[in-house]
Amino acid sequence: MKRCFVCGKEDKLTDGKCKECYLKESFQFSIPGRIKVPYCKSCNSYYTNRWKNLDNKLSFIDEVLKNNISSSREIKFVSEFSKDNKDIQAIVDFLDEGNIYKVKITIRPFYDDSLFDMEASSEILLSGEQCQRCSRFYGGYYEAILQIRNDEKKIELERANDIMKIVDKFTDKLILKDRMAFISRIEELKEGIDIYMGSLSAARKIGNCLIKKFNGSMGESHKLMGIDRDSGKKIYRTTVTVRLKNRAQRYAYYKNHLYLLDIAGDNFKLTSLEGGNILSIKAKEFERELKKENMKVIEKDILETVDISVTEVTPERYQMMKLSGDYETFYVLRDEVRLKRELKVGDNLKGAIINNRIVIMEQESII
Ligand SMILES: [Zn+2]
Ligand SMILES: [Zn+2]
Repeated sequence: MKRCFVCGKEDKLTDGKCKECYLKESFQFSIPGRIKVPYCKSCNSYYTNRWKNLDNKLSFIDEVLKNNISSSREIKFVSEFSKDNKDIQAIVDFLDEGNIYKVKITIRPFYDDSLFDMEASSEILLSGEQCQRCSRFYGGYYEAILQIRNDEKKIELERANDIMKIVDKFTDKLILKDRMAFISRIEELKEGIDIYMGSLSAARKIGNCLIKKFNGSMGESHKLMGIDRDSGKKIYRTTVTVRLKNRAQRYAYYKNHLYLLDIAGDNFKLTSLEGGNILSIKAKEFERELKKENMKVIEKDILETVDISVTEVTPERYQMMKLSGDYETFYVLRDEVRLKRELKVGDNLKGAIINNRIVIMEQESII
């Protein structure tokens, strides 16, 4: 044991001092008896350096205490005291009384000795305010209008539901990072859907997401709304317009068969152009198959079709002939044809030419 250079007592020393002298001379802390924190009841969030959700009371209290405690040494807030942790540790107990948290802090200056534990208490007062986001939200504020339109005709109800599901899901995700990514109003019009949004960047992101899902194009227009009195800056309102391609405008060529490509919720829906059967493929798997080139997406306008006629039927295969161009004959194994009916000599069909192969399609009526 060494001697404390202040009082001369023999002890295990910290910075050359015994525990009493160390506490007296080297370790001071203070915490206000009452701490006011702006709190928005509408969205359960509080303000420190920015507005944050109050999901976890303990981490909220930890954060507020850390911001308000002043101490000559760093204090580590822990859930339990530990002898393996040589920091100055503190644990927090609290009583939740609605908009007041009564907080008790126990500080352990010496990790291996609880005799010198200190206590302090404080009150955290949630002071009712409306955050900027909520005041804008309830005031009907919007920075952008996301206009969703179909290429030609009106958006069908089923499709509108699919669109709104995606918009809702994506907004929920965005709002975790961008508090202004709220929807302040939705208008379903004859020509499409208008979504009024608190954040332009969120509107753009949702637009991109829709295009990825449904295929289409996006554009923007800006309208001068006035001039901000404080900053003198011009205020614009942006309209982000998403033009979605119509249903049945795309085909998928998958494992040597041709399908109409559509989406249903999170999945891609492939309707066979031969037998009408439907495949449902998860978006991720669809992307994988695309990458592996097992799947090819073909736009309607570039699909090359040809009329064909059955010229011979054997137990294993059909002989067919193109009814235009070079009138070439070719064979198709019966196993590979998924039509619901048996083909007879003289039957006429449609075919699509993909990768130099002729792929059978049922009558045009499907398309
Ligand atoms: Zn001493
Ligand atoms: Zn709020």
